[in-house]
Amino acid sequence: MSSQTRHIGPSAEVLRLAELIQASESTVVLTGAGVSVPSGIPDFRTPETGLWANVDPMEVAHIDVFERDPARFWSYYRPRFQSLGDKRPNAAHEALADLERRGLIEGVITQNIDRLHRAGGSRNVVEVHGSIETSSCTRCGAVFELDQVDALFDGDGVAVCSSCGGPVKPDVVLFGELLSESAMVRARSLAERAELMICVGSSLAVYPVAGLPQLTLERGGRLAIVTKGVTPYDGDAEVLLDGEVVDELAAVLAALT
Ligand code: ZN
Repeated sequence: MSSQTRHIGPSAEVLRLAELIQASESTVVLTGAGVSVPSGIPDFRTPETGLWANVDPMEVAHIDVFERDPARFWSYYRPRFQSLGDKRPNAAHEALADLERRGLIEGVITQNIDRLHRAGGSRNVVEVHGSIETSSCTRCGAVFELDQVDALFDGDGVAVCSSCGGPVKPDVVLFGELLSESAMVRARSLAERAELMICVGSSLAVYPVAGLPQLTLERGGRLAIVTKGVTPYDGDAEVLLDGEVVDELAAVLAALT
């Protein structure tokens, strides 16, 4: 690389990412909890305060609890539905939707269940952990929109199907459940053909999603990471941006020519 002079303006890393985006024929974005933090959604690994301060979400948002003690499951999940349902997309979601509209990214693979990428305008979104958008009856398959679920609760605080009385489950991947195979097929396909993968707000620690950047690298694609904190892929990344996701993406958009 030629020598660079210091100047006020975008950092060399930001300019490099803008350059990679413009040169890439196929770019995919992989997002995690960090992209939704500016919308007021804490990463579930962040210790909670109040009612659930002493409860491990990995224990209660578990498929076994849903099946054996649905009242306990819903006592955790019902307020979660209500608080997530009110959240709005932030400038990072909007920046990614903007890149898609401009034909610069093919799609977004997300670990988030908050549906904020769609709300922010992204169209090709692979939600590998499902989303709160719908819940389904595990007996008859009836599907309920988020705003219909509250009317399904019985006296025990359990959501039951209005058609057959069967248990209704959020269409999200609970702890103890496998990811949807069809979602993972779409995610792998995007990762494999990507010349560039941009990972935003993910610690890239949870498999199988954490294996997706490897697929891109194995096919000769490049990796950019826009995340606070370290990831196992930092050494493989062509660009590392570790500021606030909203600021970093705004700077990258501004640097596109
Ligand atoms: Zn039913």
